[in-house]
Amino acid sequence: MKKRQVVVKQRKSSYTTTSSSSNIRYVECQKNHAANIGGYAVDGCREFMASGGGDALTCAACGCHRNFHRREVETEVVSHVQYEAYGQ
Ligand SMILES: [Zn+2]
Repeated sequence: MKKRQVVVKQRKSSYTTTSSSSNIRYVECQKNHAANIGGYAVDGCREFMASGGGDALTCAACGCHRNFHRREVETEVVSHVQYEAYGQ
């Protein structure tokens, strides 16, 4: 009498990958250009653009320091669930 052995190998795995990325943008310039005369006036710059020449903290459009621009953080969280089966 023969014995027959059948081995079924099955390996399943699942894993979750989560990736998040945050983008920091510097938007409207909020520097008060009329502070010295007791008023309030902004220059209307809508978005910080680093000026060239090694000065990455000065806005090319309005000439103000980056700190005067409102900081906006966009966070994106992406989750993937993947199922993989082997041995079929
Ligand atoms: Zn400005």
